[in-house]
Amino acid sequence: LDNHLVEIFRNFIDNENIVSIKEYGDGHINDTYLVTTDSSQYILQRVNQEVFNITNLTNNYKQLFISYKTLDESIKHFPDLCKNKDGELHILDSMGSAWRVAEFLDNINAFSISPDIVTSTLAGKAMGRFQNFLNRLDTDSFIDTIPDFHNPHKRFSSFEKSLDNSESALISAAKPEVDFALNNRYITDNMSNIISNNILPVRITHNDPKLENILFKSDKSDAYIIDLDTIMKGTLIFDFGDMVRSITSLAKEDEKDLAKVKFNFDHFRALAGGYFSELTNTISKSEKENIYNGILSVIYVQGIRFLGDFLEGNNYYKVQYPEHNLVRCRTQFKLLKEIIEMETEIKSFLRSN
Ligand code: ATP
Ligand code: MG
Repeated sequence: LDNHLVEIFRNFIDNENIVSIKEYGDGHINDTYLVTTDSSQYILQRVNQEVFNITNLTNNYKQLFISYKTLDESIKHFPDLCKNKDGELHILDSMGSAWRVAEFLDNINAFSISPDIVTSTLAGKAMGRFQNFLNRLDTDSFIDTIPDFHNPHKRFSSFEKSLDNSESALISAAKPEVDFALNNRYITDNMSNIISNNILPVRITHNDPKLENILFKSDKSDAYIIDLDTIMKGTLIFDFGDMVRSITSLAKEDEKDLAKVKFNFDHFRALAGGYFSELTNTISKSEKENIYNGILSVIYVQGIRFLGDFLEGNNYYKVQYPEHNLVRCRTQFKLLKEIIEMETEIKSFLRSN
């Protein structure tokens, strides 16, 4: 057992024997461990403070948990966080690292690729219900944990900066992707216009509801939402876009064989059907009308973020090999092309649902 991890964990849970502490999951941002004690299991996480301001993050978590209790929700949407001895939701260790402990969700499945239609429908339903819960929260009590997280204009500018700062060898290696990114900047331009018209309702949203952040009960009766770090003010169409991005391609985000990355209409229909069935009374006309643009924007922005990180030498996303971010960018752009080819069919489905 790693003494440092034990000591940290003891701040939260000190009356159970620790059996093991193991690295867990494959998140890109935080360091995640599974702690097994003689009576239970927990998720121990070191929060990446280069990405998140921990004080703001914990403020938002408190809002979530307080609201969850006061609104008397009958559905369990997300795992609980444990309090430490002082009643706080995180601690700082002697090196200044921030740590927290969450309830481990048992008998659940996580997927990087949707295994079947039922799962895609359930993903949509679970996020729709979660959005209905978020709609009841006080927007002003949430602090932006990552300002401009989905700001299309800023994302494009950062990409341009990465391109300017990049070594020419990296730019040549990514020539087709860089060209594609530059030729399709209309996507972020359009989205920026929509946002500056202020027609989309400001809501509290998840902002990162990719498939891996939805945990499914083994009996497929329900699903939980995790990775709540980016919950803040945002727009629902980007949440839907991120689900489409991660669910409809039926391939891993870092699939090298692009022939496997294809837009699957059946899974799209299932996901959208599940999501809208929960949100019929809350989704606005302006959201409905711009949801297609939201899908394009989220996938395009994710593509240029991976590409920009590749061009800058992989500072942000964890990588297993130097071209990892370029490979991830390619899957995004492939899916984007497929979706653009299906524009008429997708829009007509969205209009009739
Ligand atoms: P991301 O790349 O999505 O930003 P992250 O580094 O923020 O990831 P999380 O998504 O919070 O990390 O957690 C990493 C993985 O650990 C998840 O994909 C999930 O499989 C698992 N996990 C996290 N929290 C729990 C929990 N409470 N119960 C069970 N498994 C969990
Ligand atoms: Mg995650």
